Amino acid sequence: MRLISTEIICAEVRDLFLMTAFILPEKIRRRLASAAMTETTEPGQMILERLLENCELATSNFTPLCQDTGLAQVVLEIGQQVFFEGPPLIQAIETGVRQAYQVGFLRKSTCHPLTRQNLGDNCPPIIETIITSGDKVLIKTMAKGGGCDNKSRQIILKPTATMAEVRQSVVDLVIQAGSDACPPICLGLCLGGNFDSGPRLAKRALMDLFEDPPMTDEESDIAEALFEDINATGLGPMGLGGLNTVLGVRVKIAPCHIASLPVTLNINCHSLRTGQVLL
Ligand code: SF4
Repeated sequence: MRLISTEIICAEVRDLFLMTAFILPEKIRRRLASAAMTETTEPGQMILERLLENCELATSNFTPLCQDTGLAQVVLEIGQQVFFEGPPLIQAIETGVRQAYQVGFLRKSTCHPLTRQNLGDNCPPIIETIITSGDKVLIKTMAKGGGCDNKSRQIILKPTATMAEVRQSVVDLVIQAGSDACPPICLGLCLGGNFDSGPRLAKRALMDLFEDPPMTDEESDIAEALFEDINATGLGPMGLGGLNTVLGVRVKIAPCHIASLPVTLNINCHSLRTGQVLL
């Protein structure tokens, strides 16, 4: 058994949200830089250069990467040999989020869905816990922008759908998202699962976009094909035309019911503010 203080969890959550609000993960920044080098349209190239400049300014001036500092999402993978001490785990995570948004002067974006009254502290975060083997805790965070989340979708195809139809469905949804998702986008995709697990797995695919563990060969082949398909649409940076509509695709394949073929897209903008820490 391993004892971990939830106060440490609180501090790590706070630091992850603070860091990712100001510093784009290096792998995504490099994707943006290589997109800028390959882009052929003038508006597309100009936008990619502005996005790179924005990253530099955000990091050096300690200003958020975007005015929309996102809804806070946390995934905890908890080894079954871990025992927590200190304040309740959920409370500790909430405190970490609250502190990050206060200390960093980040916009609070969480509100009542009907009155639209801002709740004032960007809480509650959306939390998912997964029990794993071992005695470690993996904390993953994501600050999800509203514009791109509005364009995430699940469709349930017929079980007879061909791979070509699956790919076309994904491309159609990205085209429908258009400039509202602030392309070039990052895409987490779940093929299979159901109405409950599809969105969760697509979210985790997005959070792990440039992380380990690697995809299976089958997932990797589909991700590569979709990367080509989506960039071939010509939608381009901010929808103004160009070669770069998507920066990365990660696919998760999950077993599903014999009567259905769920396709779930978690679409993120270029500002993929995700972070991970292993305790
Ligand atoms: S979709 Fe992303 S880049 Fe666009 S406004 Fe929202 S957080 Fe900012």
